[in-house]
Amino acid sequence: MALREIVTVPAEVLRRKARPVTRFDDELQRLIDDMIETMRAAPGVGLAAPQVAVSQRLIVVEYAEDEEDEAAEPKLYVVVNPKITRHSKETEMGVEGCLSIPGLVGEVERYLSVTVKGQNRHGQPLKIKARGWLARIFQHEVDHLNGILFTDRAERVWTPEEPVADRV
Ligand code: ZN
Repeated sequence: MALREIVTVPAEVLRRKARPVTRFDDELQRLIDDMIETMRAAPGVGLAAPQVAVSQRLIVVEYAEDEEDEAAEPKLYVVVNPKITRHSKETEMGVEGCLSIPGLVGEVERYLSVTVKGQNRHGQPLKIKARGWLARIFQHEVDHLNGILFTDRAERVWTPEEPVADRV
C-alpha cells in the first residue's frame, strides 16, 4: 500500500464526471488499498477516487454506523460505482469540510437518510442504508464523482478557527 497525494482545488480532475469502473483487476485493488490508507492518514472519514487524481467512480468511507453510540467501532465501506437510489424527504443542515478544500467549511443541506447501491471491491452488488452523518458522507463522496464540491451546495462557507475533525 502507498499513500497517494490528495489533490486540492482548483485541480481540474475534481470538476470532471468520473468514469464507471469496469475492471476489477489488481490495479483497482491497489487503488482501493491506497485510498483507504490515504483517507486514514489524512485523517478523513471518506475519500473519492478523483481526490487522488483518478477519475473513476469509487469511494471509501470509514465511519461508525451509529454516531450516537460513542463506543461504536468505525466501519469501512468500499463502494465501486455508487449510486444513491433512495433518499428521505427530510433533510438537515450540517457543517462539512473537505480534504480537497483545505481551510474551509460550509453549511450544507443533505438528505437525512439515503440508500446507496453499488459494487464491492470484487464486483459483487452491495446495498447500504445510511442515516445522519454517514448518509451525509455518502452524499458528499458521490458528489465528488460528479464533479460537485460542497462549496457549490453550501449556503455559506467560512474558515474555522479549529480544523474540522471529520473531513471527507
Ligand atoms: Zn470532499
